[in-house]
Amino acid sequence: MPSLALALRRGFAGSCPACGKGRLFKGYLRVVTACANCAAPLGLARADDAPPYFTILIVGHLIVPAMLVWERSSAPPIWLQTAVWVPLTLALTLALLRPIKGATVGLMLKLGLMKSDDEV
Ligand SMILES: [Zn+2]
Repeated sequence: MPSLALALRRGFAGSCPACGKGRLFKGYLRVVTACANCAAPLGLARADDAPPYFTILIVGHLIVPAMLVWERSSAPPIWLQTAVWVPLTLALTLALLRPIKGATVGLMLKLGLMKSDDEV
């Protein structure tokens, strides 16, 4: 088992947190049942709401202060703020959700927070 930092980094990059060689996802957010390289039971990591929670936390802490600074400094019209912040928020969210889910699976694998189907 790798160190916590390595498991997080491998998951963030979308590879198996255990070996770093196999793929972690079989779609945008669907985790493979098991690693094709080392057979780590990655599908047993039920990340549930943790990745969206962390993503909202991070994106909110990036977007909201930037909105406030822009509003305070030049008070741009609402249509312009909407045209900038909505697409930027969506893009950041979609870009970060998958890596954050990968890192969450890495964290769960490292901490042994894996559930078998009969425990769900
Ligand atoms: Zn693996």
